[in-house]
Amino acid sequence: MRKFLAIFIALLLSFTAFLPLSAEAKRISVIIDGRSQTYDQDPVVQNGRTLIPLRGVFETLGANVTWNQKANKVTAKKGNHTIELTVGSKIAKVNGKNHTLDVEAKLINNRTMVPLRFVSESLGAKVNWNQSANKVTISSGDGGSSNGKDLEIHHLNVGQADSTLLLTPNGKTILIDAGTQSSGQKIVSYLKKAGITSIDRLIITHAHADHVGGAVEVMKNFKIGQVLDSGIPHTSQTYLNYLTYIDEHNIKFHVPKAGEKIGIDPALDITIVNSGIKGDSLNDSSVALHLKYNNFAYLTTGDAERAAEQRIVNRFNVKADVLKAGHHGSSTSSNDFFLSKVKPSAAILSYGVGNSYGHPHSEALTRLANAGVKNIYHTSKGEVIVKSNGTGYTVQGSTSTTPTPNKPVDNGNQQGKININTAGYERLQDITGVGPVIAQRIIDYRNSNGKFSKVEDLKKVKGIGDITFEKMRPQITI
Ligand SMILES: [Zn+2]
Repeated sequence: MRKFLAIFIALLLSFTAFLPLSAEAKRISVIIDGRSQTYDQDPVVQNGRTLIPLRGVFETLGANVTWNQKANKVTAKKGNHTIELTVGSKIAKVNGKNHTLDVEAKLINNRTMVPLRFVSESLGAKVNWNQSANKVTISSGDGGSSNGKDLEIHHLNVGQADSTLLLTPNGKTILIDAGTQSSGQKIVSYLKKAGITSIDRLIITHAHADHVGGAVEVMKNFKIGQVLDSGIPHTSQTYLNYLTYIDEHNIKFHVPKAGEKIGIDPALDITIVNSGIKGDSLNDSSVALHLKYNNFAYLTTGDAERAAEQRIVNRFNVKADVLKAGHHGSSTSSNDFFLSKVKPSAAILSYGVGNSYGHPHSEALTRLANAGVKNIYHTSKGEVIVKSNGTGYTVQGSTSTTPTPNKPVDNGNQQGKININTAGYERLQDITGVGPVIAQRIIDYRNSNGKFSKVEDLKKVKGIGDITFEKMRPQITI
């Protein structure tokens, strides 16, 4: 690999040397199926050919991509079309036949860049180059529709929370987490738009309000086959409301053990690789899933932190192409020892813009990048959708390949404590004895009196007496 890199650095330098200065200043716009494309690395023109980042073009055209690291070879498949490109080689293969390229796929600034026209046409798309406007227009001819046999994983944009929808190849539905109470309605409309009427498995990874908050709203709107829960309860009103609803509506409720399978689709091998055990923190009790669809694998771990990540890798082979990284990109999760076993090529983080935890933490982003994750996607601007037909996979969504971590503004969370000066409405309800009413009163108190100068001042909030406060004390900070 080292030798390979050296060759490419040399190649790159030689190219840069011959590149006319004006070429750099020209910006090429790429339109695919009517949508303007943005790439984390700008397209470049070399010898009259436009090169663009590999993942960008294949994903948009709906091809499944597999990457052979040893051979430096990428294989893209879409329908009857198969393309094989080797980085640095002018010989490409289309449906097994050799094809000579003017400009080969190459590594530029550590990104694999591929010839746009060749790739698009080989996948059956039409390409039009407008020289004066410096614009490439591509029509895939299929509007990006799937063949109906894909596995789809939709990571919803629910702010500083989690909610992930899995649509299995045979049409079954799994919803992992239901965001906060305020995102419940948003999840419901997303699912309805997707034509969903029932949820076969509703998995609540753990009892925190940013995972269970919208569950009641979801259960009110869809027929639920079974709820899976970590089994580690929380005293919050939000969690109690959820349990009460399940109880009153006779919804099947199951606390799985690590090692159990979810057998709702014969095409998929879904293993529960973590669930709550006695003594777990709520985060470490998170129900974690490893899913295999032939050659594609996906791992999701809720808010699992170091201890849970350790026991997952101790017991299971959790190698995965795509990792839904734990705990909203917190430094508590995505530890090196864990990533070295998962070996993901893409990671997805679910967090809200400007959240008070400072998620994603730079430590987690750096560890992901160091572990070889090429693309880090996040839900803060919109949903991130992974599709796979069991060979490769595609991802649609916003990326942050260069880690741009938010600055932590609330270090009270470092010990897992809740900062009563910065916690929002939902987060406050994670404190024992705090329901929606008290949470609102705490916020009202802050709004009219400013920050609490000591935790004891919480007793000035109506409804918090000495006994309640003593229960709250170990969980809070200022
Ligand atoms: Zn969470």
